[in-house]
Amino acid sequence: MIHISKDKTPPQILLDNADKWTDELKNNICKYGGYAKIPIEIKNAMWTHYRHESIKDKLFASSFNKCAFCESKPAESGNIEVEHFKPKSLYPDLAFKWDNFLPVCRKCNDSKRDHDTGNEPIVNPSVDNPEEIFTYYFLNIVPIKESDTVAEKTIEVCDLNSERLYDARSKLLHSLCSYEHQAKEWIKEIDTSDTQRKRINRINRLRDSVEILDKLMDAEQTYAGFCRYFLNNSKVYKRAKQLLEEES
Ligand SMILES: [Zn+2]
Repeated sequence: MIHISKDKTPPQILLDNADKWTDELKNNICKYGGYAKIPIEIKNAMWTHYRHESIKDKLFASSFNKCAFCESKPAESGNIEVEHFKPKSLYPDLAFKWDNFLPVCRKCNDSKRDHDTGNEPIVNPSVDNPEEIFTYYFLNIVPIKESDTVAEKTIEVCDLNSERLYDARSKLLHSLCSYEHQAKEWIKEIDTSDTQRKRINRINRLRDSVEILDKLMDAEQTYAGFCRYFLNNSKVYKRAKQLLEEES
């Protein structure tokens, strides 16, 4: 999980309609005697409001079309959806509030459901910096601080150590190890180059390997948080960066 930067200004359609749509929801809650009792077709008609293309476009762009919690892309985890950080069933006043929206995959959304984040807070990647809160232990995401109940709750509520995420992280780990190994080999070869031409050639090959690794940490890449963790702890990557800097 990494921080996502949402534009502070809501899409125009929300600025124009949020109050009206919120009143509609509250009227229906009164009319039917509670949120849960509103007929599904009426709910669905109301939910089309926040699923407007201009809202989805702006929201999903903030996370490069990734899930704000697990960092998957739709190909792996189903559609990305407009998720209410504080559930609309419990906080109808926030049902059409831009600040309350997160781009979240179907798997995380299904797992989080109506968890009351007001009562039992979880990490909000558009507010908090998850990289200061979470680290990894093998394939598991874990809190940096042992007694961090908010971090623990986030992992539990969004199911961030599920089989599908183990699979994704293990595939990525395979790539990271293999590029790291490649970089290690080039460093060794650079040190033993007997001609300047060979040395330059090997430095260029090392630069290519490091560029691939750097790219994996870009915010738009799936599971960038996991890659950043791995590479920030890689002595080989650190040495390679140092070597390339000395050569530039
Ligand atoms: Zn997700």
